[in-house]
Amino acid sequence: MEKIHIKKTSSDGIAIGQAMVVQIQEYSPEKYPITKDDIKQEETKFYEAMDKAQAEIAILAENSDIFEGHSMMVTDVMLRDTVLQIIQDEIVNVQIAVNKAYMEYMVMFEAMEDEYLRERGADIKDVRNRIIRILQKREEVNLSNLANEVIVVAKDLSPSDTATMDLDHVLGFITEEGGVTSHVCIMAKSIGIPALVGVSGIMKQVVNKDTIAMDAGKGIIVINPDEATLEEYRNLERLYKLSRIELEKSEKLEAITLDGREIKIFGNAGNIEDIDNANKHNVSGIGLFRSEFLYMENKNFPTEEEQFDIYKEAAQKCTGEITIRTLDIGGDKELPYYRFDQEENPYLGWRAIRISLDLVDVFKAQLKAILRASAFGHIRIMYPMIISIEELEQANTILSECKEELREKGCKFDEEIEVGMMIETPASVLLVEEFAQLVDFFSIGTNDLTQYLLAVDRGNNKISHMYNSFHPAVIKAIKKIIDAAHSNQVSVGMCGEFAGDETATKLLLGLGLDEFSMSVGQTGKIKKLICNTSYQDAEKLAHKVLTCKKTSEIELLVLEESR
Ligand code: PEP
Ligand code: MG
Repeated sequence: MEKIHIKKTSSDGIAIGQAMVVQIQEYSPEKYPITKDDIKQEETKFYEAMDKAQAEIAILAENSDIFEGHSMMVTDVMLRDTVLQIIQDEIVNVQIAVNKAYMEYMVMFEAMEDEYLRERGADIKDVRNRIIRILQKREEVNLSNLANEVIVVAKDLSPSDTATMDLDHVLGFITEEGGVTSHVCIMAKSIGIPALVGVSGIMKQVVNKDTIAMDAGKGIIVINPDEATLEEYRNLERLYKLSRIELEKSEKLEAITLDGREIKIFGNAGNIEDIDNANKHNVSGIGLFRSEFLYMENKNFPTEEEQFDIYKEAAQKCTGEITIRTLDIGGDKELPYYRFDQEENPYLGWRAIRISLDLVDVFKAQLKAILRASAFGHIRIMYPMIISIEELEQANTILSECKEELREKGCKFDEEIEVGMMIETPASVLLVEEFAQLVDFFSIGTNDLTQYLLAVDRGNNKISHMYNSFHPAVIKAIKKIIDAAHSNQVSVGMCGEFAGDETATKLLLGLGLDEFSMSVGQTGKIKKLICNTSYQDAEKLAHKVLTCKKTSEIELLVLEESR
């Protein structure tokens, strides 16, 4: 039995189950010497590996069209012949030949004019990886179809990894990398799965099928617990379930402070299922619909029609207003069908609104779909990662063009649709007064705002102790945003993870925040806290906090208040 304690908790909850250690990696070909006499044997290995690859892909293709293309790459006669030719001509083992042939094809595809064909290079690379893995007799990690309930242990899980994961069978997540605002963490919170991220060394400590008991709220992981510890965790699990029932009662409350200030509590969502889930949690609406998940789960850029269907359903299902954030891809969020250039600093690179303003057709398809859906419910449009007035104006010009094109076609939409922006860059904080005159609302994205203000990568475990939204610079920025919004009659919400952090609730309330949008699993706790707090007291706390020079002083103050 081994016990690990980690400081930062992520998505709380208790899980007991078998570990599934996920090795998402690129396999390098192993070289071994062969002679002419071994050629036949290498060819046989190749045919066997291709049959196995084909069988694996056939299963995956049942649920995703992406794999149909992979199947063609396995059966492709030219590719097969190239591999066999390399084995015979160069007298090299099959792994080397596969690698050479597939890499040559990949380079060829990546140099093509046509964007679609260029992107197939990534698929060839994927198929190469599969064949080499099979030749090395390693098991495939298939997360889309899990046979048993497992606790997934991985180095890191990108949004693309979790997008295809069979979440019904996942009891918990543990990752070696990532911070509390990493997307695996956000996703885990929204569906109520315990998760611990940034657990250094976990990949070395756990092997497949180890039993794990975890208390994510306290940051404890027990590997192969003894019977007494297991019993202790079973009890904790029962208690946790009871506490969830209590929380569900709190979710029914209206968030009104003891002295009558009414606060709106929204949920964050990434797809229609999240909206169904949010409705069960009695939220006032969706404060952040991360539209990029729709793009990530698709096999190409979703068309206007495809998006319209989803936004319309989302608007109709949503109990209140829904704020749809336009495509926020890049950073750690990739698209399986679009090749992003390798960037030194992806979070400072080509992402979010920058992509939309460059790929105008993609942006227009999204804006028109949102506009058309606005005839069916209360939708607001929100731009991510704005840094300049020019960007906002450019986005609004494209939006006006879309409106005009729809009017010409006689399509209905909400002519008064509200347009707002995320405040998540230092530039937008410094220009907040100017922005306030141009938008209908702000939403503070503390996940990015914290990383950009402090120059601390939100996903880097090594510096995660420095990533702290209680830093006085972040708190002062939040205050500045709220004040500017209020003096310009602009509503201001927060949709970063800080909005769902119980230790921050009273402070945010006192700073004047109007709307909190969070993973729906957090809403019960936050509503209960708001109902038990007086706004006047919260303002006093905010006042004191704003005089603090150090993060530690602020943390101490808010901790004392939450006792
Ligand atoms: C944020 O940055 O706070 C935010 C909500 O956006 P995301 O986490 O999707 O980057
Ligand atoms: Mg962000």
